Amino acid sequence: MSAATNRATGAPGGRLADVYRAKPLPAGRQRSLAGRYAWPFQFLALAALAWAFLGWLNETWLFVGDNPIWLNRYTEYAIILGFGIWRITAEQNPYTKKRLIVLVSVVSVIWWLIPWLFPFFEPYVGYPGAQPAFPDLHRPGTISFFVVLAAVLLFGRRVICGWGCPCVGIRETVGFVFRRNTLRGSWAWRLRHSKWAFFALYLAAGALLMFPPNAWSASYLGIFGLIIVLPYFASMLLSPLMGNRGYCRYLCPYGATFGILNRVGFYHLDFDGDSCNDCGVCDQVCDMGIPVLGLGREKGRIDVADCMGCGRCVSECARGSLAFHDVRSVLSPAVVRNRGRLRAWASGRLPTARPQAWAFAGMLALSLAASWWFSGAIGGENELPTLLSSASLCLAH
Ligand code: SF4
Ligand code: SF4
Ligand code: SF4
Repeated sequence: MSAATNRATGAPGGRLADVYRAKPLPAGRQRSLAGRYAWPFQFLALAALAWAFLGWLNETWLFVGDNPIWLNRYTEYAIILGFGIWRITAEQNPYTKKRLIVLVSVVSVIWWLIPWLFPFFEPYVGYPGAQPAFPDLHRPGTISFFVVLAAVLLFGRRVICGWGCPCVGIRETVGFVFRRNTLRGSWAWRLRHSKWAFFALYLAAGALLMFPPNAWSASYLGIFGLIIVLPYFASMLLSPLMGNRGYCRYLCPYGATFGILNRVGFYHLDFDGDSCNDCGVCDQVCDMGIPVLGLGREKGRIDVADCMGCGRCVSECARGSLAFHDVRSVLSPAVVRNRGRLRAWASGRLPTARPQAWAFAGMLALSLAASWWFSGAIGGENELPTLLSSASLCLAH
């Protein structure tokens, strides 16, 4: 396959064949180019994904053993923490390693410890049916929903999809072994439009939440919940067939929402066509199946709704031809967030890296403390832990 083919379709081609050699990797060493894993690892990963599904199923329908911690909605987060430690240790790309540390910390503190140990209610607008408990980042009308939308507008979808969502958490830690099965090529790329059907259902759900509930709207919202949750878990179990990010690529309505803000906000990837040598590595490391090289050649930038900002392509581009662009690029245009800068930041060599890491950790600790205070000492609704948690997400990258 020629480089021209690569530019036209975005499918792997050109000199990629010389670069990409999928070889079995030992589980203790992982890198951005997906490897082939021995079947015991694949079996272990599938069992863990099924276990996470069983946890949700038990709390929703089965009710075995009064929802023990090893079989309830939090089971998924415990699995993320366990596999996350393995992934962080094994990851060879310093930028991805740092992202995983942030991701696993956010899932453990914001999605697991706070709601489990110190639950509190979130303020909201509209009629959500039941009082939303933090974190309810995806429900239209909650304070954290609006804060996350604003953060995505400034920094791009990676604030949540790259660094803070439990979905990416379980797919980057447990589902990692199935990255090699990611569907690529032009037809898999065209299929991405399927998510807009789910987005339309989500818009309708969001609109209904703004009005007093009735029997019809309650039924719709119940069915909508199942339409979202069942494919979420089903897509995990289909990872051996479609790769680890099938839900994010084709189904997730929240990702579609954030994707629109990717387009209209400050975020995109800059592409320098003069330095690029068409190696195609950027295409091959992208779990969202985005034809990075083709888009770069065609448009001079990668500004698609689908980029979840993992930074694998940027941090693996040996020529430094790709760079993050967000609101910080407007404030400091001289700073180019390409491979060199991302790796320097991840290795702590930039002067801002350590203070930023401490600020992130401090914000998470403050979120935990504020949640304890407002759940026990004061009770009721409060937005302070929400704002602190959201600030930690913005500080993380
Ligand atoms: S696309 Fe959806 S499920 Fe995937 S990381 Fe983003 S919000 Fe989470
Ligand atoms: S942008 Fe970088 S990784 Fe992608 S083809 Fe060009 S040189 Fe290779
Ligand atoms: S285009 Fe790059 S940053 Fe965006 S999802 Fe793909 S690999 Fe990650």
